[in-house]
Amino acid sequence: MNKPERIKCLIIGSGPAGYTAAIYAARADMKPVLYQGMQPGGQLTTTNEVENFPGYPNGITGPEMMTELETQAKRFDADIRFGFITKVDLTGAIHKCWTDDGHEIHSDTIIISTGASAKYLGLPSEQKYLELGGGVSACAVCDGFFYRGQEVIIVGAGDSACEEAHYLAKLCTKVTMLVRKSEFRASKIMASRVKNTPNIEILFNTETDEVLGDGVGVTGVRVKNTLSGEKFEIPCKGFFVAIGHKPNTDIFSNFINLDETGYIKYEQPGTTKTNVPGVFVAGDAADKTYRQAVTAAGTGCMAALDAERYLAALEH
Ligand code: NDP
Repeated sequence: MNKPERIKCLIIGSGPAGYTAAIYAARADMKPVLYQGMQPGGQLTTTNEVENFPGYPNGITGPEMMTELETQAKRFDADIRFGFITKVDLTGAIHKCWTDDGHEIHSDTIIISTGASAKYLGLPSEQKYLELGGGVSACAVCDGFFYRGQEVIIVGAGDSACEEAHYLAKLCTKVTMLVRKSEFRASKIMASRVKNTPNIEILFNTETDEVLGDGVGVTGVRVKNTLSGEKFEIPCKGFFVAIGHKPNTDIFSNFINLDETGYIKYEQPGTTKTNVPGVFVAGDAADKTYRQAVTAAGTGCMAALDAERYLAALEH
């Protein structure tokens, strides 16, 4: 068996949080090793155009932005590796991790930046247009702008769906909201905001049967009334799914304090510390509120600075 690799800083995940942490940690000479995870580049690689990240006045595609962040981290000799962490043991002072190919790493500090994954309905037609970049999205703030002046549909009944529907209503001529039960799950205030927006139509007891398209983009949705069984079609250009996110935190759950929905809890507000000394968290794995590339990058920076201070205290 190979000897475990001994390092100072392991970064798990490669979205804006992970790469930003890598840039800062590498420039602080912490010689970080970053494992990119299952989806190198993270959620942004499924977004078309990023127009709200400061510093890109003409916008940039999600995949391009992630390639640039990776290049920037490599410029300072961050060790960026393809692969993912499958197991951790955070019981000792030295944190142990194992990769998908069985490699064992011992690290003084860990920055968790594993992100969250948007949930989708899972219909083949939805996945087809999601992969084509043709009108399916799980992020109104990212993609709503592309549908301004057009009609869109949004699925979901929680606070996210209400917030996103309200956001879309400012840009689009009409937003149709598909709610599978007879009531919202969202808080009263969010639900009433949606109900009081004239260009949002709410269809209760309504499920998505099929996303319709012309082979290039979405042209509408066939829906089904769950009470009557009646099916009908609604034309639209954009199909938004807002049925929740799942933070990618399962492998840490035996060691790190999570909230009831699986998000990592910050041990000390205003820092990126978790309950395990030397383990820090950045980005969407601990953020169910903002979920933006720029906020993830911000906490990535904070995590690297927190890890640097932790290492400095160990060494003195
Ligand atoms: P939630 O888990 O609260 O809601 C998910 C919604 O999606 C539910 O209404 C659920 O329906 C619906 N849903 C799930 N699966 C399907 C499906 N297959 N088809 C149709 N509908 C489906 O997730 P959110 O992302 O909305 O919120 C997560 C957390 O973040 C919550 O605690 C929320 O309060 C918080 N939040 C707060 C905000 C704020 O305060 N500004 C903004 C956004 C989020 P059903 O009700 O039928 O189960």
